[in-house]
Amino acid sequence: MESGFIPVVWPEDVIPPEAVNCTKCELHCQRSRIIWGEGNPDAPIIIILDNPGAREDREGNPFVCGTRQALQLAAHISGLKMEDLYITYILKCRPLRKYNKEKARNTCMEHLKNQIQKQKPKLAFCMGNTAVQWFFDNMQAEVKNLRGIWHKIGNIPTCVTYHPLAVRRRPNLFQHFLNDWELLSQRFFDMNKDLHKP
Ligand code: SF4
Repeated sequence: MESGFIPVVWPEDVIPPEAVNCTKCELHCQRSRIIWGEGNPDAPIIIILDNPGAREDREGNPFVCGTRQALQLAAHISGLKMEDLYITYILKCRPLRKYNKEKARNTCMEHLKNQIQKQKPKLAFCMGNTAVQWFFDNMQAEVKNLRGIWHKIGNIPTCVTYHPLAVRRRPNLFQHFLNDWELLSQRFFDMNKDLHKP
C-alpha cells in the first residue's frame, strides 16, 4: 500500500423509494440488502462494477473489501478524490448462491439506466468484463480489447479497465490498471481546468 494512503468506507447512497424493496429478480431472496452505490451521487464520474462485494465482517463491522482497496488506491494515485467518484453496480444485490445471471442482470440494468438518467454523469469508467459486456450491451466485449481508448455509450464518454479484484490477484495488471485510471483522470482534469492534478 502506498505510504500515507488508507482506504476508508465511503458513504453509501440512499436507495430510491421505488427500489427500496425491489423484488424484480431472484436475488431479493438471497441478499442481505441492496447496495445502490457509494461515493458522491453528484460526482462527474460514475464507476460501474458487476456487483457489490462484502461490506461487513461476520460480526457486522464495516470493512473495505479488496475490490474497494485497490480501487481507492488507484484513484488516489491518479489524483481523484471520493467527491469526484460514484461507484455503482450492474446488480445492486450481492449474489450468495447460484442464480440466473442473464435474467438478473437484464432486470437490474433498468435500475442502472434510471440512475444514469437521473444523475447525468459526465464520464463512465467500467471495470471488469461483466460490467463492460452489460454496459456496452455486447456479450463479446472484453476489457483487454477495449482499454486505452474512449468509447461513447449512450451519450457518455466511457473507458474501461480490469476488475480491481483481478488486479489484486494478478499484480502484473496493476500498471495497466493505473494507466487506465490515468486516461480517466487526464480527461477529468482537462474538463476541470480550475482543478490541478496533484
Ligand atoms: S439485483 Fe437488482 S433487480 Fe434484482 S432484486 Fe436486487 S435490486 Fe432488484
